[in-house]
Amino acid sequence: MKEIAGNIDKITRILPAGVSLIIVSKTRMPEEILEAYNCNHRTFGENKVQELLSKKDLLPTDIKWHIIGHLQTNKVKYIVPFISMIESVDSVRLLEVINDEAKKSGRVIDVLLQVHIATEETKFGFAVSEIETDDWQKLAVGLNHIRIRGLMGMASYSSDMQMVQSEFRKLKSLFILTRERCFRNTDYFTELSMGMSDDWTIALKEGSTMIRVGSAIFGPRKYY
Ligand SMILES: *Cc1c(COP(=O)(O)O)cnc(C)c1O
Repeated sequence: MKEIAGNIDKITRILPAGVSLIIVSKTRMPEEILEAYNCNHRTFGENKVQELLSKKDLLPTDIKWHIIGHLQTNKVKYIVPFISMIESVDSVRLLEVINDEAKKSGRVIDVLLQVHIATEETKFGFAVSEIETDDWQKLAVGLNHIRIRGLMGMASYSSDMQMVQSEFRKLKSLFILTRERCFRNTDYFTELSMGMSDDWTIALKEGSTMIRVGSAIFGPRKYY
């Protein structure tokens, strides 16, 4: 078995039912992505709009693309016609822009709210306190072209697996709280995207429904 196929197999073999694998294909060549596609895999994640646009036309049209990186509002219009999920919504303004563009395309776009759970100072993601206090149902009133499907988060980049675990646990409880508080009368707030190459097994234990894995499948990235 080729390396990429073997790596995918190692992961999917122990993935519980109901948990999906998003293969993170940023920086990878179309040929490598096609190798993963040929393992009967259809969902891929990219973090840059330009890179996604330049690759997608070289690849099969039944791929479901997720955006997992910070998205500028002026780029939304380029991806809305085809994107399957935007996992990295980090502002209410972005939600509104996605809604407007989706309306023009006649689509309803699934999104996740990205939450900042790590200790590192990163610029992106809602603060836990914003997720806890904002009325997401009310914010989404009138935004008929988006569906808030759940939360996404990245744990600290750390070898302290206890810290990583507690961050995932915090995100899971925030997910449950938000579902109860704002999405009780819907059936689509179901996704908790957490877990990457170094911590996906921990994320699974803590209740992830989507893991986003790149280097454990394709090997180390040469840049970013
Ligand atoms: C790059 C990236 C991943 C995957 O990282 P790996 O460590 O290569 O598995 C997952 N999520 C996000 C948001 C990323 O930017």
